[in-house]
Amino acid sequence: MRLLLVEDDERVAAALAAVLRKHGLSVTHARNGEEALRALLPEPGPAYDVVLLDLGLPDQDGFEVCSRIRRQAAIPVIMVTARADVRSRIHGLNLGADDYVVKPYDTGELLARIHAVARRHTQEAAEALPAAQDPVLRPQPGALWLGPVSVELPTRRVTVEGEDIALTRKEFDLLALLAQRPGVVFRREQIISEVWRTSWEGTGRTLEVHVASLRSKLRLPALIETVRGVGYRLVVPA
Ligand code: CA
Repeated sequence: MRLLLVEDDERVAAALAAVLRKHGLSVTHARNGEEALRALLPEPGPAYDVVLLDLGLPDQDGFEVCSRIRRQAAIPVIMVTARADVRSRIHGLNLGADDYVVKPYDTGELLARIHAVARRHTQEAAEALPAAQDPVLRPQPGALWLGPVSVELPTRRVTVEGEDIALTRKEFDLLALLAQRPGVVFRREQIISEVWRTSWEGTGRTLEVHVASLRSKLRLPALIETVRGVGYRLVVPA
Protein backbone atom coordinates (compact mmCIF):
# COMPACT_ATOMS: atom_id res chain seq x y z
CA MET A 1 0.00 0.00 0.00
CA ARG A 2 1.41 3.38 -1.06
CA LEU A 3 0.43 6.35 1.05
CA LEU A 4 0.98 10.04 0.44
CA LEU A 5 1.32 11.82 3.77
CA VAL A 6 0.59 15.55 3.54
CA GLU A 7 1.77 17.17 6.77
CA ASP A 8 3.76 20.35 7.36
CA ASP A 9 4.90 19.44 10.87
CA GLU A 10 8.17 17.53 10.32
CA ARG A 11 8.11 15.97 13.77
CA VAL A 12 4.53 14.69 13.46
CA ALA A 13 5.22 13.47 9.91
CA ALA A 14 8.41 11.60 10.86
CA ALA A 15 6.77 9.86 13.82
CA LEU A 16 3.67 8.90 11.85
CA ALA A 17 5.63 7.76 8.79
CA ALA A 18 7.76 5.52 11.02
CA VAL A 19 4.68 3.86 12.50
CA LEU A 20 3.01 3.43 9.11
CA ARG A 21 6.18 1.98 7.56
CA LYS A 22 6.44 -0.46 10.46
CA HIS A 23 2.99 -1.66 9.41
CA GLY A 24 4.16 -2.30 5.86
CA LEU A 25 3.01 0.90 4.16
CA SER A 26 5.20 2.74 1.71
CA VAL A 27 5.06 6.40 2.75
CA THR A 28 5.90 9.51 0.72
CA HIS A 29 5.93 12.79 2.60
CA ALA A 30 4.64 16.06 1.12
CA ARG A 31 5.19 19.20 3.26
CA ASN A 32 2.51 21.40 1.73
CA GLY A 33 -0.39 21.48 -0.70
CA GLU A 34 1.74 22.25 -3.74
CA GLU A 35 4.05 19.29 -3.11
CA ALA A 36 1.06 17.04 -2.58
CA LEU A 37 -0.61 18.04 -5.84
CA ARG A 38 2.67 17.67 -7.71
CA ALA A 39 3.16 14.17 -6.30
CA LEU A 40 -0.28 13.20 -7.56
CA LEU A 41 0.22 14.30 -11.15
CA PRO A 42 -0.31 11.21 -13.29
CA GLU A 43 2.95 11.60 -15.24
CA PRO A 44 5.65 10.85 -14.31
CA GLY A 45 4.86 10.79 -10.59
CA PRO A 46 4.22 7.59 -8.67
CA ALA A 47 0.73 6.35 -7.95
CA TYR A 48 -0.70 6.20 -4.45
CA ASP A 49 -3.46 4.18 -2.86
CA VAL A 50 -4.43 6.67 -0.16
CA VAL A 51 -3.78 10.32 0.69
CA LEU A 52 -3.57 11.32 4.35
CA LEU A 53 -4.20 15.06 4.27
CA ASP A 54 -3.55 17.43 7.16
CA LEU A 55 -5.94 20.38 6.86
CA GLY A 56 -3.65 22.95 8.48
CA LEU A 57 -1.07 23.53 5.75
CA PRO A 58 1.23 26.54 5.34
CA ASP A 59 0.56 27.35 1.68
CA GLN A 60 -3.05 26.45 0.99
CA ASP A 61 -6.21 25.62 2.84
CA GLY A 62 -6.49 21.85 3.28
CA PHE A 63 -10.08 21.90 2.02
CA GLU A 64 -8.92 23.56 -1.20
CA VAL A 65 -6.15 20.97 -1.56
CA CYS A 66 -8.72 18.21 -1.08
CA SER A 67 -10.99 19.53 -3.79
CA ARG A 68 -8.02 19.97 -6.15
CA ILE A 69 -6.90 16.40 -5.47
CA ARG A 70 -10.43 15.31 -6.31
CA ARG A 71 -10.31 17.10 -9.65
CA GLN A 72 -6.90 15.64 -10.39
CA ALA A 73 -7.04 12.01 -9.31
CA ALA A 74 -9.46 9.29 -8.29
CA ILE A 75 -7.73 8.43 -5.04
CA PRO A 76 -9.18 8.08 -1.54
CA VAL A 77 -8.46 11.01 0.79
CA ILE A 78 -8.51 10.87 4.58
CA MET A 79 -8.50 14.33 6.14
CA VAL A 80 -6.58 14.76 9.38
CA THR A 81 -7.33 17.76 11.53
CA ALA A 82 -7.64 19.20 14.96
CA ARG A 83 -10.91 20.85 13.92
CA ALA A 84 -13.35 18.53 15.60
CA ASP A 85 -16.49 20.43 14.75
CA VAL A 86 -19.23 18.82 12.71
CA ARG A 87 -19.31 21.65 10.16
CA SER A 88 -15.70 21.07 9.08
CA ARG A 89 -16.42 17.38 8.93
CA ILE A 90 -19.42 17.83 6.64
CA HIS A 91 -17.54 20.37 4.55
CA GLY A 92 -14.69 17.88 4.12
CA LEU A 93 -17.00 15.07 3.12
CA ASN A 94 -18.78 17.38 0.66
CA LEU A 95 -15.46 18.08 -0.99
CA GLY A 96 -15.04 14.39 -1.60
CA ALA A 97 -12.94 13.29 1.38
CA ASP A 98 -13.51 9.60 2.03
CA ASP A 99 -12.96 9.81 5.76
CA TYR A 100 -12.06 12.26 8.49
CA VAL A 101 -9.76 11.74 11.47
CA VAL A 102 -9.49 14.18 14.34
CA LYS A 103 -6.19 14.76 16.17
CA PRO A 104 -5.11 13.33 18.50
CA TYR A 105 -5.97 9.99 16.94
CA ASP A 106 -5.16 6.46 17.88
CA THR A 107 -2.66 5.01 15.37
CA GLY A 108 -4.45 1.67 15.38
CA GLU A 109 -7.70 3.35 14.43
CA LEU A 110 -5.97 5.43 11.77
CA LEU A 111 -4.47 2.28 10.24
CA ALA A 112 -7.86 0.60 10.24
CA ARG A 113 -9.39 3.59 8.46
CA ILE A 114 -6.59 3.70 5.89
CA HIS A 115 -7.16 0.05 5.06
CA ALA A 116 -10.95 0.53 5.02
CA VAL A 117 -10.95 3.41 2.51
CA ALA A 118 -8.38 1.67 0.31
CA ARG A 119 -10.44 -1.52 0.32
CA ARG A 120 -13.66 0.36 -0.46
CA HIS A 121 -11.93 2.21 -3.27
CA THR A 122 -10.60 -1.01 -4.82
CA GLN A 123 -14.09 -2.51 -4.62
CA GLU A 124 -15.63 0.53 -6.26
CA ALA A 125 -13.04 0.44 -9.02
CA ALA A 126 -13.79 -3.24 -9.61
CA GLU A 127 -17.53 -2.55 -9.67
CA ALA A 128 -17.00 0.18 -12.23
CA LEU A 129 -15.70 -2.39 -14.73
CA PRO A 130 -18.12 -3.26 -17.54
CA ALA A 131 -18.56 -6.76 -16.13
CA ALA A 132 -20.04 -5.38 -12.89
CA GLN A 133 -23.32 -6.87 -11.74
CA ASP A 134 -24.92 -3.59 -10.70
CA PRO A 135 -27.33 -2.68 -13.50
CA VAL A 136 -27.53 0.97 -12.52
CA LEU A 137 -23.88 1.89 -12.10
CA ARG A 138 -22.59 -0.29 -14.94
CA PRO A 139 -20.81 1.98 -17.41
CA GLN A 140 -21.82 1.84 -21.04
CA PRO A 141 -19.12 1.88 -23.68
CA GLY A 142 -18.29 5.37 -24.89
CA ALA A 143 -20.22 8.39 -23.75
CA LEU A 144 -23.78 9.14 -22.71
CA TRP A 145 -25.14 12.12 -24.61
CA LEU A 146 -27.67 14.31 -22.86
CA GLY A 147 -28.29 17.19 -25.22
CA PRO A 148 -25.19 19.40 -24.88
CA VAL A 149 -23.78 17.26 -22.07
CA SER A 150 -21.61 14.21 -22.59
CA VAL A 151 -20.72 11.86 -19.76
CA GLU A 152 -17.89 9.43 -20.43
CA LEU A 153 -18.13 6.74 -17.83
CA PRO A 154 -14.84 4.88 -18.39
CA THR A 155 -12.76 8.06 -18.28
CA ARG A 156 -15.07 9.97 -15.88
CA ARG A 157 -14.99 12.94 -18.25
CA VAL A 158 -17.87 15.38 -18.52
CA THR A 159 -18.24 18.03 -21.19
CA VAL A 160 -20.87 20.67 -21.93
CA GLU A 161 -20.87 21.78 -25.55
CA GLY A 162 -17.42 20.26 -25.87
CA GLU A 163 -15.98 22.11 -22.88
CA ASP A 164 -14.52 20.00 -20.05
CA ILE A 165 -16.22 20.42 -16.70
CA ALA A 166 -14.26 19.54 -13.56
CA LEU A 167 -16.42 17.59 -11.13
CA THR A 168 -15.62 16.06 -7.77
CA ARG A 169 -15.78 12.31 -7.54
CA LYS A 170 -19.19 12.27 -5.88
CA GLU A 171 -20.60 14.88 -8.26
CA PHE A 172 -19.57 12.67 -11.14
CA ASP A 173 -21.01 9.54 -9.51
CA LEU A 174 -24.29 11.36 -8.92
CA LEU A 175 -24.49 12.66 -12.48
CA ALA A 176 -23.51 9.26 -13.91
CA LEU A 177 -26.21 7.55 -11.88
CA LEU A 178 -28.98 9.90 -13.04
CA ALA A 179 -27.64 10.05 -16.60
CA GLN A 180 -27.94 6.35 -17.15
CA ARG A 181 -31.73 6.54 -16.91
CA PRO A 182 -32.85 9.96 -18.09
CA GLY A 183 -36.43 10.76 -17.11
CA VAL A 184 -36.51 8.14 -14.38
CA VAL A 185 -37.03 9.42 -10.84
CA PHE A 186 -34.39 8.24 -8.39
CA ARG A 187 -35.44 8.22 -4.76
CA ARG A 188 -33.20 10.18 -2.36
CA GLU A 189 -32.41 7.07 -0.28
CA GLN A 190 -31.56 5.19 -3.46
CA ILE A 191 -29.14 7.91 -4.59
CA ILE A 192 -27.51 8.17 -1.17
CA SER A 193 -27.06 4.43 -0.98
CA GLU A 194 -25.69 4.18 -4.56
CA VAL A 195 -23.39 7.20 -4.49
CA TRP A 196 -22.36 7.44 -0.84
CA ARG A 197 -22.87 3.77 0.00
CA THR A 198 -24.43 4.69 3.28
CA SER A 199 -27.86 5.26 4.73
CA TRP A 200 -26.47 7.93 7.05
CA GLU A 201 -29.20 10.53 7.56
CA GLY A 202 -26.81 13.48 7.50
CA THR A 203 -26.03 12.71 3.87
CA GLY A 204 -29.42 14.15 2.89
CA ARG A 205 -28.08 17.69 3.00
CA THR A 206 -24.89 16.56 1.25
CA LEU A 207 -27.04 15.29 -1.63
CA GLU A 208 -28.70 18.70 -1.99
CA VAL A 209 -25.31 20.42 -1.95
CA HIS A 210 -24.05 18.12 -4.71
CA VAL A 211 -27.16 18.63 -6.85
CA ALA A 212 -26.83 22.40 -6.49
CA SER A 213 -23.17 22.34 -7.39
CA LEU A 214 -23.79 20.10 -10.44
CA ARG A 215 -26.51 22.46 -11.69
CA SER A 216 -24.19 25.41 -11.39
CA LYS A 217 -21.01 23.77 -12.73
CA LEU A 218 -22.85 22.43 -15.79
CA ARG A 219 -24.63 25.80 -16.14
CA LEU A 220 -27.84 23.85 -16.76
CA PRO A 221 -30.07 24.40 -13.75
CA ALA A 222 -32.95 22.47 -15.34
CA LEU A 223 -30.87 19.35 -16.10
CA ILE A 224 -31.55 17.82 -12.70
CA GLU A 225 -35.15 18.19 -11.68
CA THR A 226 -36.24 17.98 -8.06
CA VAL A 227 -39.23 15.71 -7.63
CA ARG A 228 -40.62 17.07 -4.40
CA GLY A 229 -40.82 14.58 -1.57
CA VAL A 230 -39.31 11.82 -3.72
CA GLY A 231 -35.94 12.58 -5.21
CA TYR A 232 -34.38 13.69 -8.49
CA ARG A 233 -34.45 12.93 -12.16
CA LEU A 234 -32.39 13.99 -15.12
CA VAL A 235 -34.21 15.88 -17.84
CA VAL A 236 -32.39 15.90 -21.17
CA PRO A 237 -32.36 19.45 -22.57
CA ALA A 238 -34.08 19.83 -25.93
CA1 CA B 1 -0.42 21.23 10.10
